Amino acid sequence: MIRTDALVLHAFDYRETSRIVRLATREAGVVSVIARGAKRTGGKFGQGIDLYTSGAAQIVLHPTRDLHTLAAFDATRARPGLAASMPRFGAAAALSELGMRCAPEDGGGAIHDVLVAGLDAISVAEPEAVVPCAVAATWRLAEALGFTPSLAQCAACDAPLGAAREVRFSPRAGGALCLPCAALAPGSRTLPAEARATLVAWASGAVVIPTDPKVVRAHQRLVREFLEEHLADGKPLRAWRDWEAGGGAADAR
Ligand SMILES: [Zn+2]
Repeated sequence: MIRTDALVLHAFDYRETSRIVRLATREAGVVSVIARGAKRTGGKFGQGIDLYTSGAAQIVLHPTRDLHTLAAFDATRARPGLAASMPRFGAAAALSELGMRCAPEDGGGAIHDVLVAGLDAISVAEPEAVVPCAVAATWRLAEALGFTPSLAQCAACDAPLGAAREVRFSPRAGGALCLPCAALAPGSRTLPAEARATLVAWASGAVVIPTDPKVVRAHQRLVREFLEEHLADGKPLRAWRDWEAGGGAADAR
């Protein structure tokens, strides 16, 4: 039995009274649990186990199974601001879909912490900031997973890349490329100096909101292509692609 901070990434009813929940935890990485009796309100699951809620979880880990048992969950923070707006909800769904792809291995709870900070930011974001907040959180998730993109140096030959230069960006190569290396790397995209500066700022935790919707969409696509390249399971990111196809619902209807 472990006690840990946990975030609900996905939850669905199971049989008459139970729920199956995908949790990002600080102590055990991203795990699936069954919460027996969770459809009844009250008791050991308090107000229930709702999407994108943070809480203190007690989990019985089964060493030989992929489905563990949730013994108790005390919600500490619901995020009603996410359900209140379609753009925010779509961004939360795209970010949590990535979180669900993460494995139990999570050194020090970094994945949990990045997802919590990302959902907190999205839940209070103004309409024009929703997509940038989600994309910035996604780059930090990539870092937490060990896929930090190379931005200041060529990902292939380590040549320094002056900050004022337009470069090419290759998801497969792992970041920005100098021109000679880019010529040898199919599938790279142009990365303007300003877009690269934004990536560097996001990596440092700064809040940068590009004003041009086209630039925002290009960032959304770039990080998705990067993660599809580096997440090992090779499945498409469905919630993310829906979100991206809807323009991130940036018109805030
Ligand atoms: Zn190079």
